[in-house]
Amino acid sequence: MGLAPARVWAELALGNAKVSTVSDGSLLLPGDFIFQHMPEVELAKVLQEAGVPRDRLAPECNVTLYQGGGNTVLFDVGSGPDFMPTAGNVTESLDAIGVAPDDITHVVFTHAHPDHIWGLLDDFDDPVFANATYMIGSDEWDYWWNPNTVDTIGEARAAFAVGAKRRLEAIEDQIERFDDGQEIFPGIAAVASYGHTPGHMSFEIRSGSTSALIAGDAIGNHHVAFHKPGWLSASDQDPALAAKTRAQLCDRLVTDDMTLIGFHLPNGGIGRTEKASDSYRFIQDI
Ligand SMILES: [Zn+2]
Repeated sequence: MGLAPARVWAELALGNAKVSTVSDGSLLLPGDFIFQHMPEVELAKVLQEAGVPRDRLAPECNVTLYQGGGNTVLFDVGSGPDFMPTAGNVTESLDAIGVAPDDITHVVFTHAHPDHIWGLLDDFDDPVFANATYMIGSDEWDYWWNPNTVDTIGEARAAFAVGAKRRLEAIEDQIERFDDGQEIFPGIAAVASYGHTPGHMSFEIRSGSTSALIAGDAIGNHHVAFHKPGWLSASDQDPALAAKTRAQLCDRLVTDDMTLIGFHLPNGGIGRTEKASDSYRFIQDI
């Protein structure tokens, strides 16, 4: 399969700022990556309702672009050339809307998984976004920077640790760290959403009464994450903490009527969250 076509998926206006998502392509994953250990009979019902197969998943990868206050900010950078042949085309997607890599003033990471951070470096291991300042949550940086992580993370994720460390070393001199609740730009605050990774961060963008949450992978899909936010997912490093985080974020999205921007949510990843008895639904006006 070739690269997904470059395109701008969706955008919304927040005050004078514009928030868009641009496609980095998609991933191909075995269903067990998420569904392993979930109750199969109930799972089958959720997946049937969502029209999602059990055995194979092809989630989109939606990089958020924020243009406002003189800044051009990317939230995550996609997979780059080395992760999967179906992903790694964020620069083509940006080019399609007239944004060049050198125009990016800041890169902010939700977390350091391959599909979010490996796109930092090109085929020659040079930084793609040469003029950018990089920003990452302190706990996320500390976890992946720790030389022991590769030995403690488990065999299945050891390559993630090696890949993250190599890329963080490449930007060590341009990195700024931030903590939970910190306003990293005017109107944009970091929201700790730990569990998918030890220091995963989401971001609340606020303009007057309008707000949006860049959730990263804290809400990682449009099916089980909303229908059964409390179910433990094999895709989360700390499944119990991730489930608690997911439930809290879903509740907050509904209570505060926030727009949701999810990295792996469909059709560009922008939508709303609705409460449905004891679960939630992801709603898109498309
Ligand atoms: Zn991801």
